[in-house]
Amino acid sequence: MAKYGMVIDVSKCTGCYSCFIACKDEHCGNDFPPYAASQPNMGHFWMRIIESERGKYPKVKADFIAVPCMHCEKAPCVEAAEDNAVYRRPDGIVIIDPKKAKGQKDIVKSCPYRVIYWNEEKGIPQKCTLCAHLLDDGWKEPRCVEVCPAGALTFGDLDDPKSEVSKLVASGKTEALHPEYGIKEKVVYIALPKKFIAGTVVFGDTDECGKDAVVTLSGDGQKKTTKADIFGDFEFDGLAEDKEYSVEVEHPGYKPQKFSVQTKIDVYLGEIILSPKSSK
Ligand code: SF4
Ligand code: SF4
Repeated sequence: MAKYGMVIDVSKCTGCYSCFIACKDEHCGNDFPPYAASQPNMGHFWMRIIESERGKYPKVKADFIAVPCMHCEKAPCVEAAEDNAVYRRPDGIVIIDPKKAKGQKDIVKSCPYRVIYWNEEKGIPQKCTLCAHLLDDGWKEPRCVEVCPAGALTFGDLDDPKSEVSKLVASGKTEALHPEYGIKEKVVYIALPKKFIAGTVVFGDTDECGKDAVVTLSGDGQKKTTKADIFGDFEFDGLAEDKEYSVEVEHPGYKPQKFSVQTKIDVYLGEIILSPKSSK
């Protein structure tokens, strides 16, 4: 028996909403007993796209985070439901039984990810089923995964070490969107947005871009070095939140500069003007 899971690579997602539309196409107006009643056209986002913007002008980064149900191993929605109205299938998919869950509005607020939606007309809570009805029919992946043009969604058997999804999990690059919930999510992420520190190096004597200036970041138990690009720009991304770092900028013939930075927010150090060593 397969144990299903999904890895979502945020660095590949373009925010095209194809997954969201495929979900609507599959589930709106279609009942798939015993897994799901039809999804309303409006107000439900069984595959939601969160738009995340970081930094501020002139260094702004945008990311899109696709958020379905995480099919958690320790799912609070399962515990909150009465009469086993929410259950985990042997393959790990968490299902809300549309018949048993009728009238159980409290199930909606049991999910810390807020991915359960109330269907007012039918009086039932609803969410992503990972297209369990299709998998039962021999499909290899849900509609959202099949349609993603960027290859941002990888679905498969977590118990098969040769599956793509297992290899991605084994790479050590994956993490839960909210590990602090401690609910053993089976949908995990690569390249979730973190904090960044960036700057632009300028040679003070010539006013030229500080190409190839060596920039060293130290802090939070790590040391990384990069070089400023042709425009003098450099960047360290994927940094932990609310940590102290030091950034040192050096170039032969110029006086080095050092900065202390705290990653409470994304930080753009602005133009860093290097003075020649010969100047006062
Ligand atoms: S993400 Fe929410 S709805 Fe999905 S299994 Fe976990 S607790 Fe339940
Ligand atoms: S289909 Fe793929 S690229 Fe498009 S929004 Fe969904 S996850 Fe992102």
